[in-house]
Amino acid sequence: RAKSVGRDRVEVFSELIQTQILNAKRIGDDIRQAIEEGQFTVYYQPQFHARSLEISGVEALVRWNHPERGILTPFHFLKVAEEINVLPAIDRKVVELAYRDFQSWQKEGLGVPKISVNMSSPRLRDPGLIADLRDMRIPPGILSFELLESIFLDDPEDEIAGTISALGDLGIEIEIDDFGTGHASIIGLLNLNPARLKIDRALVGPMTEGAKQAKLVRAIVDIGHSLNIAVVGEGVETWEHAAMLRDLGCDVLQGYALARPMDRLELEQRLRRGWKPVFGGPDK
Ligand code: C2E
Ligand code: MG
Ligand code: MG
Ligand code: MG
Repeated sequence: RAKSVGRDRVEVFSELIQTQILNAKRIGDDIRQAIEEGQFTVYYQPQFHARSLEISGVEALVRWNHPERGILTPFHFLKVAEEINVLPAIDRKVVELAYRDFQSWQKEGLGVPKISVNMSSPRLRDPGLIADLRDMRIPPGILSFELLESIFLDDPEDEIAGTISALGDLGIEIEIDDFGTGHASIIGLLNLNPARLKIDRALVGPMTEGAKQAKLVRAIVDIGHSLNIAVVGEGVETWEHAAMLRDLGCDVLQGYALARPMDRLELEQRLRRGWKPVFGGPDK
């Protein structure tokens, strides 16, 4: 009896895997088609100077406007996209869309100082990257690339050193995303001369729970400032987080308490009516 139960389980299990493989394959085919048909779009989450709550920039976050399933977040497709090697195509598109939007904001004087775009490891290592960026003639100082610590784990940093310095020549800044949760060497990361460290929300959330957690955040802020690197707090979900980060010396705040990611039209509407968050207020 035990044996037959075991066999049933194996069958159910292998069916499950079959379904997962089929799903992944279908999502993969859908992604390829979505790229061709321009179904990828960009949401923007504003970031704010911690003291004034003036907008300091926006982070571009890719979304898939799926014909049947609606707006999908990266959780639903980024892993498959990586497996089928289309991350470079997606990241390229996001820069193109974000810069196009940025130009129209500038024309209208909407006051978005800069845009940050998440850059995957394969796109960073794409031989076409620098040429594409040159062709776009993006003025220096308005675009920055957010890189995950893990990028520097799966390739020794000297492999991408040339790319990093070419980005510097183009006036594109580097930010270390999700700082404090990866396993990359801190010396290696700091050698990249990042303009900003983004403290991961896994460190920001627990900050209000105890003195130790808060001290850790302060230590990161101090490391950043002693090296002339600005520090961004991510995942600011409450005004308590915001006040604490500000008091610990964090420069920039980003999170649901201040503003959620939103589409271009919503961002533009808010900026046109002179919106900015009010300390302790709702995110609208
Ligand atoms: P990330 O770069 O760390 O981006 C921040 C994520 O946290 C976003 O999720 C954002 O919506 C979410 N978030 C913002 N504020 C809060 C908050 O207060 N609380 C919580 N719990 N979450 C908050 P999203 O848009 O789903 O993106 C997830 C990840 O996907 C990003 O994490 C980034 O690693 C990746 N990603 C997003 N867009 C792109 C892209 O264009 N290219 C690549 N290669 N990766 C991207
Ligand atoms: Mg990011
Ligand atoms: Mg992050
Ligand atoms: Mg993240």
